Amino acid sequence: MITGKNHIGNQYSAKGTQTYKTFNPQLNIENESVFTEATQEEIDAAVTLASEAFEVYRAISGAKKAEFLNSIADEILALGDTLIQMYCSESGLPEGRAIGERGRTIGQLKSFANVLTEGSWVEATIDTAQPDREPMPKSDLRKMLIPIGPVVVFGASNFPLAFSTAGGDTASALASGCPVIVKSHPMHSGTGELVASAILKAAVKTGMPNGVFSNLNSSGIDVGQELVKHPKVKAVGFTGSYKGGKALFDLAAQRDEPITVFAEMGSVNPVVLLPKAVESKGESLAKTYAGSITLGTGQFCTNPGLLLGIKSDALSNFIQQLSDEILKIEPSCMLHPNIHDTYNKNKNTAISQNGINISADYPSDTKPNYAKQTVTTVDGDTFLKNVALHQEVFGPYAIVVQCENDRQLEEVILKLEGQLTGTIMADATEISKYSKIVSALQNRVGRIIFNGVPTGVEVCPSMMHGGPFPASTDSRFTAIGAHAIKRWVRPFSYQDWPKQLLPDALKDDNPLGIIRNIDGIQTQKHL
Ligand code: NAP
Repeated sequence: MITGKNHIGNQYSAKGTQTYKTFNPQLNIENESVFTEATQEEIDAAVTLASEAFEVYRAISGAKKAEFLNSIADEILALGDTLIQMYCSESGLPEGRAIGERGRTIGQLKSFANVLTEGSWVEATIDTAQPDREPMPKSDLRKMLIPIGPVVVFGASNFPLAFSTAGGDTASALASGCPVIVKSHPMHSGTGELVASAILKAAVKTGMPNGVFSNLNSSGIDVGQELVKHPKVKAVGFTGSYKGGKALFDLAAQRDEPITVFAEMGSVNPVVLLPKAVESKGESLAKTYAGSITLGTGQFCTNPGLLLGIKSDALSNFIQQLSDEILKIEPSCMLHPNIHDTYNKNKNTAISQNGINISADYPSDTKPNYAKQTVTTVDGDTFLKNVALHQEVFGPYAIVVQCENDRQLEEVILKLEGQLTGTIMADATEISKYSKIVSALQNRVGRIIFNGVPTGVEVCPSMMHGGPFPASTDSRFTAIGAHAIKRWVRPFSYQDWPKQLLPDALKDDNPLGIIRNIDGIQTQKHL
């Protein structure tokens, strides 16, 4: 049952007077449950409890934390159909997507549990003492990664499970040893409450300290901003728009003690269509890209919103085929009327720019909150001169840029802002002729794809999900995959520390059996 209350650690709390409801975009009506926004007192209580829990939680073994993460996965699964129905009613997304995203969320939690069980992620590094070294003796130095403290997590509207309450940021922060306070997304607060209750059930079952997790409701930006400003918060994980991510990043930088906001933001994910590929497989490319642009009603951060090619008859044919294919696809529902309105507003801004041609625009009426897909075209000169055309239109929209030649194509890529992904569609023989274009693209993105689509992000250690600003605020880290844990830790050295007081990861006899670097050599051996 949904209470609409905040979770301050293991306690329900609803001291505020500000309430709100979520919205069912398929039925175009408000959902029934009433949520109470967190007050300043509740924000402070959650952060203080997290700070106290940190003292206990950080010292709990990796094996016990792994038990906690696995238990969260089990409890989420145990929510069964209630969770799936709630997800659908608050997002308008179909049941199959809800089930798939639940699987991904559970998979992420379990993969971090595996990382903890194996244990080598702490990067234990030991340089043994050299008491006889001349002219100065060398100390015994031992370094490992340790957690930084309470982390605030903001989820995105378009992933109510995998990038939200128990999503990748929460899973990686809890794995690292940091307590988490989630700023619940106002569009899916019911889904958030169910998942929060699963996390807290798991915390109690596995003996985790009260305050290791809290979930706070809000219908506006105030609760999030107060959390980011709170002196006991040590880092922030954000997934959402550029506007939101940058505002929180700036706020965190202005604190007396500045903290890092790891913000994963929007992207247009350029796709470079090299000439031979367009010529030899234009038709199948058009089908594939019509599907990718409209997948999830275009509401993916990896949506291919920008296609770049060199003017030719083949490119004109491709644009026609893409337009024909995209108009065959039935429009689908967006996550919320506000997102639908913003899509229409941003699309209208884009198509009203000088030099834009509309190649496809779904013509018929649709149900409320359903998005009409659109493809536009523009020439390279116009695109280069107008940065408004470079911005993300979150939804089923793409622009095809027709460049004069390969030099202009390279210039266009060099002018782009940082992106999550870049894709090269090429004939196997032609890619080597375009090394400058490949290199320019590599410099703008976090992940490069050959003859594929950027949508559909695999969760595995080699995945990089992030990219140069403004795709994310720190391109050195990924938000997906095992290495996401590194955002919540800091390296820490012990110098000549009493052996019996060292953490297990750094003890001589390597009781955890992890891989360590000892005097420059990677080894699982003990000293
Ligand atoms: P959003 O509007 O930025 O909201 C994300 C969260 O941030 C919400 O909880 C929102 O709270 C909060 N927020 C926004 N502006 C804020 C501010 N100035 N101060 C404090 N809190 C603020 O984004 P969304 O609609 O949920 O998601 C769509 C966007 O996310 C798209 O641009 C998409 O590309 C991007 N996205 C990126 C990734 C990635 O991995 N890079 C993944 C998914 C989505 P309120 O709603 O209460 O304002």
